[in-house]
Amino acid sequence: MTRILDGRATARSLNKALKQKVDALDWAPTLAVVLVGSDPASEVYVRRKGIVAGRIGFGHRQIDLPSTTEQAELLRVIEELNNDDEVDGILVQFPLPAHLDEKAVLDTIAVSKDVDGLSLESIGRLAQGRAKLVACTPKGVMRLIESSGIDLQGSHAVVIGRSNIVGRPMAMLLEQANATVTVCHSRTRDLPAILKTADVVVAAVGRPEMIKGAWLKPGAVVIDVGINRVADSEGNPALVGDVDYASCEPVAGAITPVPGGVGPMTIAMLMENTYEAALARRS
Ligand code: NDP
Repeated sequence: MTRILDGRATARSLNKALKQKVDALDWAPTLAVVLVGSDPASEVYVRRKGIVAGRIGFGHRQIDLPSTTEQAELLRVIEELNNDDEVDGILVQFPLPAHLDEKAVLDTIAVSKDVDGLSLESIGRLAQGRAKLVACTPKGVMRLIESSGIDLQGSHAVVIGRSNIVGRPMAMLLEQANATVTVCHSRTRDLPAILKTADVVVAAVGRPEMIKGAWLKPGAVVIDVGINRVADSEGNPALVGDVDYASCEPVAGAITPVPGGVGPMTIAMLMENTYEAALARRS
């Protein structure tokens, strides 16, 4: 029978354990989240992060900036948070409006407060196996796999997607866990043939239900990072992953649902990173 890897339940128990650690402190780690503009999906993510931070007992600040914010002003806000002793973690919600430079933003966040783990230094550290704060989504995927007792040693892991936020750091973490890793992207030839040899599939593509069950090796572990907003058969808004769940679930050995898989794990890892950043800074 296919195992459903329940990211929501795993995240809940991680958040609960973290809350106990935070309750034992006589101070509260503080997370600052910067939102530029009013992208509805980003607003949902930011709100969710604030709710979980509050539940765990973190201090939480949300800085809302208009979509017309200039680069210099955004960098000034980040510098202010860098210099604010009360703030332990800084997250700038992406995507930013097109006129803003995301790389410059990431590189302005103090490395000690880079709880999203996406700055040049954080990714460089990860590449060398010297990570401090690891990118939340790939870290969440690893934690979900580990907590499910799945052994990655010697397995063939195929990551579909090579973005700096998900695919690339994901491949590094899987390789560091002694999987043999193949990274696929939009120019990959014959993705189905590669997937047929995969023990573990991580889909981070951004294309609704692209991965089909017929492409999978029976028993494969299938991790769906994708979050795609689509209309269901009745025209109502729905969320689907990059994996065609209906055809993959019967073939896979284990699979993550969307929603309720990687998404909650990403937020749990953001909380863990904030706690780790706070301890490192304040001790
Ligand atoms: P990007 O658009 O930055 O990257 C997509 C990657 O997929 C690229 O490397 C691209 O290749 C590759 N790709 C595109 N089309 C194909 C194809 N037909 N075959 C194979 N590879 C292809 O997306 P992100 O990495 O930022 O996000 C991926 C997905 O994960 C999205 O749905 C996003 O919403 C979701 N996400 C979910 C999170 C969570 O918490 N669950 C967090 C972050 C993202 P190329 O490099 O050649 O262009």
